[in-house]
Amino acid sequence: MTAEIVERMKEAENLPSLPAVAIEVLNLTRREDFTIEELAELLQNDPAMTVRLLKVVNSSLFGLTREITSLSQAMNLLGWRTVRVMVLSFSLVAAIDSDESDDFDYKSYWRRSLTGAAAARRIAAIVAPRIAEEAFVAGLLADIGMLISARCEPDLYGPVLQKRDSSGLALQDIEKEMLGVDHAQIGSELLAYWGIPEGLCEAIAAHHAEPPCECNQSTPDLPRLVAAAMDIAELFCDETVHQDVDAVKNASKMRTGVSDEQLDALMEALDDNVRETASLLALQIGETRDYASIQAEATRRLAALSIEAEVERAATDRDARNARQEVTRLREENKTILEIAATDILTQIPNRAAFDQRMEEAIRRVSTNSESISLILLDIDHFKETNDTHGHLLGDEVLRLVGMILYKATKDIGFAARYGGEEFAILLSGSAAEHAVELADGIRRMIESASVSSGGQQVQTSASLGVASILNPRGAIVATDLVEEADRCLYRAKRGGRNRVESCHLSLAA
Ligand code: GH3
Ligand code: MG
Ligand code: MG
Repeated sequence: MTAEIVERMKEAENLPSLPAVAIEVLNLTRREDFTIEELAELLQNDPAMTVRLLKVVNSSLFGLTREITSLSQAMNLLGWRTVRVMVLSFSLVAAIDSDESDDFDYKSYWRRSLTGAAAARRIAAIVAPRIAEEAFVAGLLADIGMLISARCEPDLYGPVLQKRDSSGLALQDIEKEMLGVDHAQIGSELLAYWGIPEGLCEAIAAHHAEPPCECNQSTPDLPRLVAAAMDIAELFCDETVHQDVDAVKNASKMRTGVSDEQLDALMEALDDNVRETASLLALQIGETRDYASIQAEATRRLAALSIEAEVERAATDRDARNARQEVTRLREENKTILEIAATDILTQIPNRAAFDQRMEEAIRRVSTNSESISLILLDIDHFKETNDTHGHLLGDEVLRLVGMILYKATKDIGFAARYGGEEFAILLSGSAAEHAVELADGIRRMIESASVSSGGQQVQTSASLGVASILNPRGAIVATDLVEEADRCLYRAKRGGRNRVESCHLSLAA
């Protein structure tokens, strides 16, 4: 039975429509006598779609052993049904204009859908390779009912999302209570209306209904795969509901038959897979989280719970108010410890450990998004002499001064840290990276004209800087390459007479 709300959505003006080429693909493939050549020829009318499809199937997520360079090759290798369903779903995704000025959080929606898609594809590749591509598409489209409801029925769906955020209850339960039907059902019926094959629609309809029971079939079917994948997507993407990592893993294992090690391995790669696919499909997904940080957060929550349990127990014995103060104190302490671990004691700016972590994150981000990145290394000139002449305490004062100058100069555009001794590092990405040399020279001038006082006399200093930039990278960047290049430039600046900036551009070997 079709719910009234779904019927209304089908008529809604702002319901995205399938592009003409997708409709032609559907019509052609309904004919019994069509040929693969005809289908390939038809798809060539949409070169952008063809390019996107080839990029996605050649991405690391799909892990094919040889490169697919044409649509007919894709159809021979993956089957025409797979290619058809991917074309349909990608054109649907492209037809949804995420820039609509409504309140719906498109970034988090696509983050969750792509995580579901990648998880479904990876699990299927292990336990049911035959349906791996279908699993990807099913994960990609599983939550489309949410997006369409938010767009076509904002007055009804807005309150549903609000209640989800304020109550922490499961979205599908709130939907059933307030709309009489959940997003799984809505999505499935609309996809059927768009001509997406029945098997996919059924799997999507059931993605919240599948109980995580023992997987007794030799291979799990699509509904189980999608249900498991969407649970994993929720674990990775939903910050409001704190999921139990082990519970999600156990349910996934039971539904699909993957092993613990396989699940860990795929979850470790998931964040990279998601970013890569987002960039290939040109979807904005905002900040993502990786498996390590999800595990770290779970451990922290567990630690916090055990601290609270401990203190709660004490509360029944002793004065309850003291115990609550203790909880607050421990929480504060925990937060402070994390901050201290990332801060340089002398200059109070981030330390080397914090820098290395930031660098790793930045490199991953810019590699996927083809954003520019620059690293500036700064070394104070003749600092040993400053120490020898004016004493170590004044030397420390100079380090604090330089730290403060760097902090102020970069706080809105980059990340500065004490790299070690009298060396500092600055990381810039995106458009800021393209102006790294100007920034470096500005900093050099500020240091040159600043001074610290010692026994009534002003002591001046200077610094040399090396700048290494990679503009619009096409491919993976290696952190050590960037550091080595910046270091070489810094050495050139020292040899060239100090108090100067030297820079270079790196290009990536293809
Ligand atoms: P150059 O222009 O070639 O960089 O010469 P330099 O004297 O600055 O370089 P060198 O590496 O020979 O000396 C660095 C000095 O920095 C030696 C070390 O004692 C001093 N230093 C390192 N950390 C600290 C610190 O925390 N406080 C103080 N006061 N000095 C430090
Ligand atoms: Mg040095
Ligand atoms: Mg020095």
